[in-house]
Amino acid sequence: MLEVRPEIAAMPGYHSPQVDVPVRLNTNESPFPPPPEFLNEFAEAINSIPWNRYPERTAPRLRNALSRHHDVPAESLFIANGSNEVLQTVLLTFAGPGRKVVVFEPGYQMHVQISRIVGSDVVVIERNDDFTLDVDDVRSKLTEADPHLVFLSSPNNPTGQCDDEALLDAVLESTSGLLVVDEAYAEFGTWSAIDRALSSDRIVVSRTFSKTWSLAALRLGYLIGSPAVVDHLWAAVLPYHLDAAKQMAGEISLRYIDDMNERVSRIISERERVQNALVDMGIRVSPSSANFILFSTDIDANTIWQRLLEEGVLVRNCSSWPRLEGWLRLTIGSEDENNAFLQGLESAVKQG
Ligand SMILES: *Cc1c(COP(=O)(O)O)cnc(C)c1O
Repeated sequence: MLEVRPEIAAMPGYHSPQVDVPVRLNTNESPFPPPPEFLNEFAEAINSIPWNRYPERTAPRLRNALSRHHDVPAESLFIANGSNEVLQTVLLTFAGPGRKVVVFEPGYQMHVQISRIVGSDVVVIERNDDFTLDVDDVRSKLTEADPHLVFLSSPNNPTGQCDDEALLDAVLESTSGLLVVDEAYAEFGTWSAIDRALSSDRIVVSRTFSKTWSLAALRLGYLIGSPAVVDHLWAAVLPYHLDAAKQMAGEISLRYIDDMNERVSRIISERERVQNALVDMGIRVSPSSANFILFSTDIDANTIWQRLLEEGVLVRNCSSWPRLEGWLRLTIGSEDENNAFLQGLESAVKQG
């Protein structure tokens, strides 16, 4: 009999059911494709890759492009296949078997899952009923837990809220571990910990091309931190983990920052419109600084989810997640998609 590690055997797996419906608003992707000019440039660049050779191990060109984009030293950048691989590498390097990782819930379930896969013990600190965190409460719970690593996602998935920046100090002062600020949605939000990460070797920031860059299919993410931390990550990750085509695609995409900013502002204005419409309908929303909205109605969430599906609209049913009974998450789509959602929800709620 094969003996699977108990951490893996206990795992439910991470699936967002992909149902074939016209309006898919369940995985926080961008509703807009990247610009055609980007695709043309990338298609051309592929021909120049020396395919018989291994790719450059530390992606120097992409690293330099990111360094210019964020105005940070290239030595402070680590890059991997999606920010999930970034987070896994951070965990393998600074947590791992038997070490303690703190997460705040409700939060991003992959933080818990990847921590368990690498054998770390997960300690949960509960958010308040309105999904905020109380800084003094966090201080005392962190002091008690004494973790090697703390995850904070801000804006937080799935609540959409930005935490108070003072939380960073609370974490630094009450632990001796590494604070990982997951900024997958930072371009939609109000603050970034990048400056803090550059001046402290106990804070790192992870970012992704999956959301604002409209490149979820590319699987590209990166981290900004002190060179001392970053060096260890490059040492821990598998050799040649970043293929040459991906390195090029990432570098080329950064030439289209205006398009990215334009998509972000369109999504933010749609988010505000949808959020106001929900409030007008009397629906509870968690105020969002991201490209999605967590909401709940007086009707059972599974019923709402099913009724929306029958209207051709797929949202994420978060009802079975820790602390989220009754809640669903809508990814902001195009104007038409959002209208389809609002109409579908209105009729779903009316049925009582
Ligand atoms: C979507 C998301 C990511 C992105 O992960 P990738 O592996 O880069 O696609 C990371 N963190 C959070 C909180 C997310 O919601």
